[in-house]
Amino acid sequence: MKPMGPIPDGFVPGPHGGLTISGEPAVGLFDRSGGTPLFVYDRSLIGRKIAQFRAVMPDNVALHYAVKANPYAPLLEWLVSYVDGFDLASSGELATLERAGGLVLPVSFAGPGKRDTELTQAIERGVTIHLESEGEADRALAIADRLGITPKLAVRVNPPFALKGAGMKMGGLASPFGVDADRVPALVCHLIDAGANWRGLHVYAGSQLLHAEPLIETQRLTVELAARIATEVGREPPELNLGGGFGIPYASTDIALDVDRVGQALGETLRAAPDILSSTRYAIELGRWLVGEAGVYLTRVIDVKDSGGRRFAITDGGLQHMLAATGNFGQLLRRNYPIANAAKFGEESSQEVTVTGCLCTPLDLLGDEVMLPPVGVGDIIAIFCAGAYGLSASPQNFLSQPVARELLL
Ligand SMILES: *Cc1c(COP(=O)(O)O)cnc(C)c1O
Repeated sequence: MKPMGPIPDGFVPGPHGGLTISGEPAVGLFDRSGGTPLFVYDRSLIGRKIAQFRAVMPDNVALHYAVKANPYAPLLEWLVSYVDGFDLASSGELATLERAGGLVLPVSFAGPGKRDTELTQAIERGVTIHLESEGEADRALAIADRLGITPKLAVRVNPPFALKGAGMKMGGLASPFGVDADRVPALVCHLIDAGANWRGLHVYAGSQLLHAEPLIETQRLTVELAARIATEVGREPPELNLGGGFGIPYASTDIALDVDRVGQALGETLRAAPDILSSTRYAIELGRWLVGEAGVYLTRVIDVKDSGGRRFAITDGGLQHMLAATGNFGQLLRRNYPIANAAKFGEESSQEVTVTGCLCTPLDLLGDEVMLPPVGVGDIIAIFCAGAYGLSASPQNFLSQPVARELLL
């Protein structure tokens, strides 16, 4: 038997013992979706996270949603009423967000390798471009000049420090992301001289962080760095995007991030910030922490077989929809995501089973030697923590399997 991650709060057995999602029996959702495999996202759980953020973070810190975590259009439409802004990483995301009505909020666009067409679309729509290099700055200025529009430009800074303990580190190293900190004041002066609307600075130091202390320290260093740059430029930055990186527990050894502590410490950091930041609007951009635990991936058992003394449950899903749960999304070690037999959610786990997808590759492993209530053909397997970096972060075309459905409750 191998351990699995903790089932997130908010998922409980219904009167008949089966898993309910947002009060509805999970196994009944297929009538509405048209079948399996299915991603279900529970709005009420995302709402709880947003409320928690508001309760613990300082009032002058805006909450932005990082669209790349989950770009499902109905989710974006709903989020427009609850977050303060959106962060994009491509013009494809911009198009989805525009259709979802999200351009009424402040929107920023970060990411290396923005094409001229993407810069054009962003400038035309009043989106703030987070510049990743001097070359990109010059292309954006030339495009804006041609369009006769004053562009909103911010600079993403490659900080001289790294976020310790992050699942993915960005910063403190040579990097395709952001402009090295020592060159940022000159670039900002260049933008201002060229007549751009300089919107401020952006530092994103990493992702999937579960420890409060390094995150607190990174936010403190980010504020210090922004003040230093602003002082050199001689101008207050209208906005400072502090990044995000809040993680969620996926595996048995993961502990939840203490956001109360992060919020309290950030309050102290901002109260002590230098005067040059006194009118700055702060933002934190989150994807995974907001939506990750609100999503469940549901897949049906096609076959149960025994081999070499082990039992296998083979499902109609797999890594083509939920790559991250198979440990192939950049993880160093494969660890079991929380997983359940949906119809028998309230029952005792009495059988060891290995849950796989239907692809012909040993990589397609959804639950390795997990303990579940007995699994039979036709049962529904639920994989939790599927709300972020699920479907859109998976190779859907691999093996030409059917696409997964999605549903927002
Ligand atoms: C990916 C990304 C995010 C979102 O990260 P999460 O771990 O989902 O919160 C935010 N900002 C930038 C710049 C990113 O690249």
